[in-house]
Amino acid sequence: MTICRRTFFSITLACVAALSTVSGVSVQAQTPAKPLQVLLVAGGCCHDYAAQTKLLKAGIEKRINAEVTVEFNPSNGTDARFAIYESDDWAKSYDVVIHDECSASVTERPYVDRILAAHKSGVPAVNLHCAMHSYRWGDFRQPVEIGADNAGWYEMIGVQSTGHGPQSPIDVSYEVADHPVTKGMQNWTTINEELYNNVRVFGNADVLAKGVQVQQPRKRELQQNPNAKPSEATAVVVWTNTYGPNQTKIFSTTLGHNNDTVGDDRYLDLVTRGLLWSTNHLDADGNPATGYGK
Ligand SMILES: [Zn+2]
Repeated sequence: MTICRRTFFSITLACVAALSTVSGVSVQAQTPAKPLQVLLVAGGCCHDYAAQTKLLKAGIEKRINAEVTVEFNPSNGTDARFAIYESDDWAKSYDVVIHDECSASVTERPYVDRILAAHKSGVPAVNLHCAMHSYRWGDFRQPVEIGADNAGWYEMIGVQSTGHGPQSPIDVSYEVADHPVTKGMQNWTTINEELYNNVRVFGNADVLAKGVQVQQPRKRELQQNPNAKPSEATAVVVWTNTYGPNQTKIFSTTLGHNNDTVGDDRYLDLVTRGLLWSTNHLDADGNPATGYGK
């Protein structure tokens, strides 16, 4: 204890160290981790983003040590743009970005390139539902070639999708039992939802779940053929990807059209694990790293 007789500063340090040794818990481990800084960009066509941003922010912050900043554009058009993307360093304050835009008609290269540049440089992304149908142009209904002018957004996501059939329940089945994002999760059936098709699944994508949906014939089909039968469609609905020279971790799910799906615990658990996985804060058993759980 002789060291405790020295200056106040030395006493403080020495005594803290001594306490740490006695308790067996390091001071560092007791310090709460800085909350994960999450940027949620949402808005555009066809969805109730005013409600869904609230469901996502509350659902994530309830589950993990995170602060979700919402960049919401109330426009309901496919041309919704976001002021934050106008600057080159738009992602600098965030650990991960959730893309929840529905901006199919936004096709301006410098704008889209600025979004992608952040992810190329290493900022992880979590892509939800209509993000998959944003920033598309050219002959996007055909499989895009890697490096093509209109391929950039799909290369980041890892899957190219162009549309969906009528809404009906989707049977979600997890394909990889030991992946940290899906470990221990149970297969489930959604309420009426949109099953996004797959035009191309890129080589780096790691499929975590498939969805199967029975689709009733559309009105137009029934007009042409009154005896048209329901068909069954299958598509990848949850996956991971690695993107760019830094192998940035990307997590995506095409689920999440309706508010009741977005607010479902099974959906929020999945998205939250995707956030943690993409930022390297998820352990092998699917639990948050020390300091990030609640
Ligand atoms: Zn939708």
